[in-house]
Amino acid sequence: MISIKTNEEIELMKVAGSIVGDTHHYLEQYIKPGITTKELDVLAKKYILSRNATPSFEGLYGFPGAICISINDEVVHGIPGNRKLKNGDIVTLDIGACYKGYHGDSAWTYKVGNVSKEVDELLKHTEEALFEGLKEVKPGNRIGDIGYAISEYAKKYNLGVVKELVGHGIGNHVHEDPDVPNYGKKGTGPILKEGMCIAVEPMLNMGTAEIYMLDDDWTIITADGLPSAHYEHTVAVTKDGYTILTKR
Ligand code: MG
Ligand code: MG
Repeated sequence: MISIKTNEEIELMKVAGSIVGDTHHYLEQYIKPGITTKELDVLAKKYILSRNATPSFEGLYGFPGAICISINDEVVHGIPGNRKLKNGDIVTLDIGACYKGYHGDSAWTYKVGNVSKEVDELLKHTEEALFEGLKEVKPGNRIGDIGYAISEYAKKYNLGVVKELVGHGIGNHVHEDPDVPNYGKKGTGPILKEGMCIAVEPMLNMGTAEIYMLDDDWTIITADGLPSAHYEHTVAVTKDGYTILTKR
């Protein structure tokens, strides 16, 4: 069932979302060669708690970190640990925060030091793909319109669209109905209505769209070892479009 949030609920979603956006902003200064992903995770958790919220992903389905941190060919769900960021890496922080029972969810891929031109373009195009998808978010449009826009944009740049992982409705739970795939057919899927809250999150690969899971049962990586980028915002459908809840 797709829930329609009341104005009061949207206000709480806005607070949760702004905490997520601020956590990204806070962590950005620490993204440098030499820092471990565990150190970033500890900073994230402390910051989220300081805002009277809790990290949404900690313990979610048993996840062992506060946030997901995925490097280079890791697509999603990287577990924070002793790995150090290196110059030329890219790192995705996927951050969720729960405030008074409502969640915000936003992922962003960052450059560590200097990256190659190819990698830089992967990041630029994946961020742009997110906004191409968001342009379709308005009452009367359908979920398939979002995925269609994202995959058409990705096609132009020969980027692999990850299909096994999708965006989602969000509210009292991080993952609610409907699924929001990054591919689809125009004019298909559930109809968007004012008051729905969804997370739109293209994951685009420089090479193949194929992925697999590491033995840790969490980390998803690209099958060809090429890098993957991931940009996500939580948005609320408004009367004539959408508002981003996870702004930084
Ligand atoms: Mg996320
Ligand atoms: Mg999400």
